Amino acid sequence: MSESRDFCPRCGEPVPDRAEPLPGRPRGRTALLCDDCYFADFDLVDAPDRIEVLVCAGCGAVRRGESWRDVGARDYTDIAVEEVAEALGVHVDATDVEWGVEPEQVDANTIRMHCRFSGIVRGTRRTAEVMVPVMVSRGSCDRCGRIAGGYYAGVVQVRADERELTAAERTEAVSIAESYVAKQEAKGDREAFITEIKETDDGPDIKLSSNRLAENVAGRITDVLGGSFESYPTLVTEDGDGNEVYRVTFAIRLPRYAPDEIIDPDDDEGPVLVTGSNDRVQGIRLATGEPYTSAYEEGDAPEATRIGDRDDATETTVVTVEDEHAVQILDPETYAATTVPRPTFFDPDAETVLAIKHDGRVHLVPDPE
Ligand SMILES: [Zn+2]
Ligand SMILES: [Zn+2]
Repeated sequence: MSESRDFCPRCGEPVPDRAEPLPGRPRGRTALLCDDCYFADFDLVDAPDRIEVLVCAGCGAVRRGESWRDVGARDYTDIAVEEVAEALGVHVDATDVEWGVEPEQVDANTIRMHCRFSGIVRGTRRTAEVMVPVMVSRGSCDRCGRIAGGYYAGVVQVRADERELTAAERTEAVSIAESYVAKQEAKGDREAFITEIKETDDGPDIKLSSNRLAENVAGRITDVLGGSFESYPTLVTEDGDGNEVYRVTFAIRLPRYAPDEIIDPDDDEGPVLVTGSNDRVQGIRLATGEPYTSAYEEGDAPEATRIGDRDDATETTVVTVEDEHAVQILDPETYAATTVPRPTFFDPDAETVLAIKHDGRVHLVPDPE
């Protein structure tokens, strides 16, 4: 054993014979110093002069290292506490360390963090107080920067086959896109965003941050509203770093006939209220209330005459129920009593019914559910 164990290497004072180092705590050069020399240079806490927290003015995300993180509804004081906890270092020789922090909001962008530390060093409890100012500065995260710059990689164009979109389809398509993207964001995907939703006369154009996201949105819209989509690479550009960017258009064709539309398939069985299109058109025969399904060969685009939609039906008075097959009502245009077939959806207790007139014939229409 060396002599140096018994004398302080800095001041030469004799030091009490120390025990061997604790397991796992190798004895460094400072460990040989006497207590006076050791504590002369000792800092329990190593703290930076100040900490800067960069917050995105657009979305509130906080820059952590090389990336941006969403902080949700949390207060920036919480962020400041976390940043301070990460930035402060407690001396490795200290054990039983305890600490507390008291934030003091100085102004909107400055929080003073008053930190108190204590720990056992060389058998005695040492304490330290440090104040670290946290400066909040505002910038723009890469995501908000890309949105502001109009960046997008995929477009979903929602259109319908040989007709305009209904108001309900427009609303539904946009809300499917928004809720799907919001779900990806909530899962922590900061690269998922909608750049723009443009309502054109033909239907909405939804610009999205990636091809994959756009394809998934197109898939969800056609799952719910029917129809199908095709993809077309539309344009190749270069981004700021010279990388090629492929933009892909996902062109949705919603089914030819919209729910609530009234069509006549020209099959001598009279008009049909369309209820949906899932590969084939489903509906209800107005004359009987029986279900209608388009022929397999015609798929979801059978030849049919468009008569109108449920909103075009008017409320009219039931005069009398004649029998199981016939009802007398007032003609919605001439108000003359007229006898029409009695469909299964007709409620015999009703005083009024919805009816639509086409080609001189009156048809009952089921109430909306
Ligand atoms: Zn000494
Ligand atoms: Zn942002």
